[in-house]
Amino acid sequence: MTDGQQIRCAAGSQSLLPEPIALVRRCDCVSRFADCVSLEITRRALEILRRAREIARIAAPLKLTVSKSILGCTMTAISRRNILVGAAASAAALGVVGSATAGTFGNPDSPPEGRINGKNRTSLDDPGPQNPTLAGQFPSFQDPPATDVNGMPLFWASFNNAHKRFQNGGWAREVTQVDFAISEDIAGVNMRLSENGIRELHWHQQAEWAIMLDGKCRITIIDEVGRPQVADVKTGDLWYFPPGLPHSLQGLGPTGAEFLLAFDNGKSTEFNTLMLTDWIAHTPPDVLARNFGVPADAFKNIPLDQRWIFQGTDPGPLAADERAVKSAKGVPAHPFVFSLSDLQPTRQNKGGMVQIADSRNFNVSKTVAVAMVTVKPGGMRELHWHPNADEWQYYIKGRARMTVFDTGPRAQTADFRPGDIGYVKKSLGHYVQNTGDTDLVFLELFKSDHYAEVSLSEWLTHVPPELVTQHLNISRETLARFPNTAPDLMPI
Ligand code: MN
Ligand code: MN
Repeated sequence: MTDGQQIRCAAGSQSLLPEPIALVRRCDCVSRFADCVSLEITRRALEILRRAREIARIAAPLKLTVSKSILGCTMTAISRRNILVGAAASAAALGVVGSATAGTFGNPDSPPEGRINGKNRTSLDDPGPQNPTLAGQFPSFQDPPATDVNGMPLFWASFNNAHKRFQNGGWAREVTQVDFAISEDIAGVNMRLSENGIRELHWHQQAEWAIMLDGKCRITIIDEVGRPQVADVKTGDLWYFPPGLPHSLQGLGPTGAEFLLAFDNGKSTEFNTLMLTDWIAHTPPDVLARNFGVPADAFKNIPLDQRWIFQGTDPGPLAADERAVKSAKGVPAHPFVFSLSDLQPTRQNKGGMVQIADSRNFNVSKTVAVAMVTVKPGGMRELHWHPNADEWQYYIKGRARMTVFDTGPRAQTADFRPGDIGYVKKSLGHYVQNTGDTDLVFLELFKSDHYAEVSLSEWLTHVPPELVTQHLNISRETLARFPNTAPDLMPI
């Protein structure tokens, strides 16, 4: 791009910029090529384009036309003010806003909200202290869509800025309700176990749901009937340990394991569980002797501090461990592990796919239901809500933008990257856009025995059409084109 070039920006046939922008190093708003700014304008124009590109990707491939400017009257039309207002308009909505007039389609509020309504530079800029690296990761906070309105409790959190507790054998970090107030139903833990690293034998009052993110680990558990299970879990597999059932985890070679844990209570903490070592150390020796029927002296070398995570030795083949744990009571009625990656998609279309695991197929998972969602570039998770439970999200790959809708009205948009967490209260409307160039992959977790959702488009196509057309002032033809089968992802 060079001085004097003109830029038009369009998604399909829809223009994203209200007028072409000329890239100029010298602006002619006073007189052509007078020295009246405008590195600032050039910088600004490039920023507009970057944002327009980002927005355009959501719904349609961006068509960016750069043409030689016609020097003369075209350029006289460009002033600093026009460019700033045009910037707000283009960044605020997907090509539907052509002016900065509030109370219009795409810019509905009174008093007006959104950058689009800022009429001068000093109401739009941000001269105070900044951390550009961090701020740059949250374009939706810096420049919310003009349809966002009022505020709502923060529904973004992340493992990326959670403190890691390291020990020899691995580490863990967590995001609980203490850090993330909205997250009442689920507390999340991200854990790493080295090759042969052990998360010690323990139990807790909450259920533990997990997905293996990388590598392999061996789990052990026993149910309340006395039926043990030992199993090896690979990337993409799940486990579910019901409340109170004791278990352990061990990273396997050659790479160890990294996984996500979700407890079905936002207050749960991985750093405070009921641990074997703690209990043994805090039981009088004579009671230990009586309980286990061995001399008290046999316990003289027990650790006096909990181990939590520690470096262990190679556990050997699974078959040997299976033989070693065998009980006359048999094996659990349903396995505590489940292969999500091998599951046929519940839904698959051009927009991506959804895989659902809940107590209907992963029988033991009585309090956690999960949907693993893949959204293709340009695709989106449709407008919907969940009538049965809050949604706790974990972002695994790609880039996302979610908007949540509540009474008030309130609407708020946030951006998500791998390792981030999102949260949507029960029945609040929401949608998730893939804002990147690659597949977006994230988990939706619910404290429920089953996955449930209401699709906005399925609802609107299954009430009498006159009702909808009268509400929205849309035509019958438009309504007839709405997807009528709860597509989950768009485009179909
Ligand atoms: Mn546990
Ligand atoms: Mn959802």
